[in-house]
Amino acid sequence: MPAYKAPLRDMRFVFHELHQADTLLAGLPGYEELSADLIDAVLEQAGTICEEVLAPLNRQGDEHGCLFENGVVRTPPGFKQAYDLFRQNGWTGFACAPEDGGQGLPKAVNSLVEEMICSANLSFGMYPGLSHGAYLTIRRWGREDLKKTYLPRLAEGAWSGTMCLTEPQCGTDLGLVRTRAVPQDDGSFRITGTKIFISAGEHDLTDNIIHLVLARLPGAPKGIKGISLFLVPKFQVGDDGSVGAGNGVSCGAIEHKMGIKASSTCVINFDDARGWMLGEPNKGMRAMFTMMNGARLEVGIQGLGIAEAAYQGAVTYARERLQGRSLSGAKHPDKAADPIIVHPEVRRNLLTIRAGVEGCRALGAWVGLQLDVSHHHPDPQTRQNADDLVALLTPVVKAMFTDFGFEAANLGVQVFGGHGYIREHGMEQLVRDARITQIYEGTNGVQALDLVGRKMGAHAGRYLRQFFHPLAAMIEARIEDETLGPYAQPLAKAFVRLQQATAQIARAGMVKPDEAGAAASDYLRLFGLVALGYMWLRMVETALPKAGGAEDGDGFYSAKLNTARFFFDRMLPQTAGLFQAIMAGGASLMTFDETWF
Ligand SMILES: Cc1cc2nc3c(=O)[nH]c(=O)nc-3n(C[C@H](O)[C@H](O)[C@H](O)COP(=O)(O)OP(=O)(O)OC[C@H]3O[C@@H](n4cnc5c(N)ncnc54)[C@H](O)[C@@H]3O)c2cc1C
Repeated sequence: MPAYKAPLRDMRFVFHELHQADTLLAGLPGYEELSADLIDAVLEQAGTICEEVLAPLNRQGDEHGCLFENGVVRTPPGFKQAYDLFRQNGWTGFACAPEDGGQGLPKAVNSLVEEMICSANLSFGMYPGLSHGAYLTIRRWGREDLKKTYLPRLAEGAWSGTMCLTEPQCGTDLGLVRTRAVPQDDGSFRITGTKIFISAGEHDLTDNIIHLVLARLPGAPKGIKGISLFLVPKFQVGDDGSVGAGNGVSCGAIEHKMGIKASSTCVINFDDARGWMLGEPNKGMRAMFTMMNGARLEVGIQGLGIAEAAYQGAVTYARERLQGRSLSGAKHPDKAADPIIVHPEVRRNLLTIRAGVEGCRALGAWVGLQLDVSHHHPDPQTRQNADDLVALLTPVVKAMFTDFGFEAANLGVQVFGGHGYIREHGMEQLVRDARITQIYEGTNGVQALDLVGRKMGAHAGRYLRQFFHPLAAMIEARIEDETLGPYAQPLAKAFVRLQQATAQIARAGMVKPDEAGAAASDYLRLFGLVALGYMWLRMVETALPKAGGAEDGDGFYSAKLNTARFFFDRMLPQTAGLFQAIMAGGASLMTFDETWF
């Protein structure tokens, strides 16, 4: 695997030129001091630590994995030193509020930094990623004293966080949670139960681990409406923030798994552990969604990070590997054979990854920006609109980006041929690491159900309008344009398919809910491709005036237009097949008798 190189050029394009994020953010209270130079400096520093510290540890982390001995988990060699450096350089508090000791940088920048971390070392990224989710949840739902004690320690990375939802009998269906929480006279709770598959549940990177645990109060209603959320530290914490004795939290085992081997996946036992409620009784899912929604976007970015790593590996190899001759005559007659990059099939693989990466990067940063607007904009209506858009696009980002990440990792292996399948080049690790991103934080099938079941019809289509209206306006204004028309026209066709599919699912799903379920995954993919098309049309518009000009010395803008052409010619048409599958309905799935399987 070639050394990872942070894709700063494209990130700058997305951030400054495409989204003009500096201007937008500088208009938001709290971000007035942000400048393009500051953001570039941050991205550069993040790139350096990812290239020089995290990426070189990735292979070793995979081969060594985590070790479990006598209740203690040891991360692979080098992880603790890397984490300490990461922490000392302020990266754990990068997106935390200044009053908690963080740097208060916007989500839009954070999503680019997260992408680099995930490209460099997905397993490593799990530890600070989960901690940040716990930080945000405590900040939003915690009592003042809890915030004061826990937030600064999480921001500085001295403590880490987890999310404890899953139990042996309870995965997707969180209504089945059995862990119990018994109220105490002093306002605390005693938590008892077993959680499984807890990422970063136990490790040797930090002094304390703060678990956010879903549990049931005595007499709580059955199902999802009887779940509350609790903060449970591994070690007790004194009033002065000092770490004390154990708190009835122990690690029973770690899982041996397909990928992300350097990220510990733990069985965590709570045995009368002392905890504090976050949010209100029986409304734990509401509070937990703060963590889950953030985590879903972050997992989407994990898919993007893997895809970028796969692209870099595959391109380098395709330039070096000599096999066969170009179909149109030798391109390098001086060599024993042409490099495989001359072959259309290899180019198709490379461009599929590239078009997906650049589209997802643009979309991920846009959603990040909307998140910043939804938190910071002074106008309540603008905040609400941005919030609606984030709610709509969260399942799309999670599922489409991670499906794409896995696809990209597989295509990367394909470019390497047999050399991708063996361990030497690190390409097979990407496939194994990518696979979990389609499963955790709600499987991608469940994301699709969220999109059609909750988001599509929410508030009589209000979320959808936030996306459909600007897209329709953009297409209408460009479709007759001589240069932009050829890009806007295929997007217009795909958009019509999306609108018709939306109407069909809404109609059929009202009569038979299975119809909506049967269409969900294809619909999410169709939606995602149209969303990427929207980004690509905007990227074309941004790049066109510069392509071939003085600013295009390195061919960046010309390549951007060519990649766009590939997307519109070869990827967006997939929407036609998806549309047909959706319109065919779910009968062939649901009439199949259970005994025939
Ligand atoms: C490496 C790793 C790390 C993890 N980290 C964490 C963590 O930090 N914290 C945590 O709490 N959990 C964690 N998990 C658990 C993870 O979130 C779950 O595995 C996931 O949510 C799916 O639950 P499950 O495995 O029980 O599958 P199930 O819920 O049993 O689902 C099995 C299959 O059925 C489908 N399915 C289930 N219900 C429905 C439905 N209603 N409609 C349609 N399809 C459905 C699913 O899509 C899936 O394909 C982790 C898991 C792994 C493997």
